[in-house]
Amino acid sequence: TPVALGDAVSISGLTVSYGTTTALRDAHLHIPAGTTTALVGESGSGKSTLALAASRLLPPDASITAGSVRVGETDLAALTGRPLREARGSVAAYLAQDASVALNPVLRVGGQIAEVHRVRHGAGRREAAALAEQNLADVGIPDPARVARRYPHELSGGMRQRAVIAIALAFRPRLLIADEPTTALDTTVQADILALVGRLQRQCGLTVLWITHDMSVVAEIADRVAVMYGGRIVEQADVLTLFESPAHPYTRALLRCFQEGRTARPKQILAAINGSPPVGGVPDGCPFHPRCPKADDSRCRTLLPEPRPIARDRQAACHHLEFTS
Ligand code: SF4
Ligand code: MG
Repeated sequence: TPVALGDAVSISGLTVSYGTTTALRDAHLHIPAGTTTALVGESGSGKSTLALAASRLLPPDASITAGSVRVGETDLAALTGRPLREARGSVAAYLAQDASVALNPVLRVGGQIAEVHRVRHGAGRREAAALAEQNLADVGIPDPARVARRYPHELSGGMRQRAVIAIALAFRPRLLIADEPTTALDTTVQADILALVGRLQRQCGLTVLWITHDMSVVAEIADRVAVMYGGRIVEQADVLTLFESPAHPYTRALLRCFQEGRTARPKQILAAINGSPPVGGVPDGCPFHPRCPKADDSRCRTLLPEPRPIARDRQAACHHLEFTS
């Protein structure tokens, strides 16, 4: 059963501030309809901020100060009030790392999904319950009728994350944004969830933005990749190009860690790349210059490199790009 159909997504000039701190600066990202883009980077790179801004779920102390998030004809960044409430979930659905935040602990799982069908799609009580069971079946939950009657705490972590995906699908979203939804799960469950989202994505033509720090996840699910550092997207390309000829020194460092088998945890990325990512504001010039082996005094420490096209559908922001096209 097709449960959703994706739209092309165009993020343009997106900028987010927490008070006087800019957490995301001038992000441009295009995701073709029905494809998956992985957003990678260390913690603090701005990837969760981009995910929350695009889902319109930023905390109250953060605000979008510039830019647009177009999903088909809708500019999510421009919505307020009721149109914004209606867009949450149905234009862009968000999967958090912690599945329990998306579930109401005192309501049965099936009832929570059925409510989406009643409130958002005007389904009757019986029809909504049947659709909820169908959603649970679609996410590979065996015996959905039984699981529908369970409370969230009665499910395993993997089953809870499947239930959250079932809720997301009930909204029939045009964009699915996933912020490391498998990080808290053990490896085999993680692989099952990745396979599930891959299958749903192909079946439903969902458009997916998948946030991760794990390059093996990128290799598994992504059509395209955007790499973030210091609140900016520093490189984007299709997944094969990025793995075979990374252009930005930071992307090369990330891939080196991955090839050396050291990317399992963000802390290990930190250890493998000299120094640490910027905390509380980025330095002048290129944000990566304190850690970059190629940094020079003439430009890198003073002049911010702007993202520029380096090939078809391929961009990077660096004064000393090295790549083959
Ligand atoms: Fe390194 Fe300079 Fe490129 Fe920044 S602009 S990544 S410091 S070479
Ligand atoms: Mg994060």
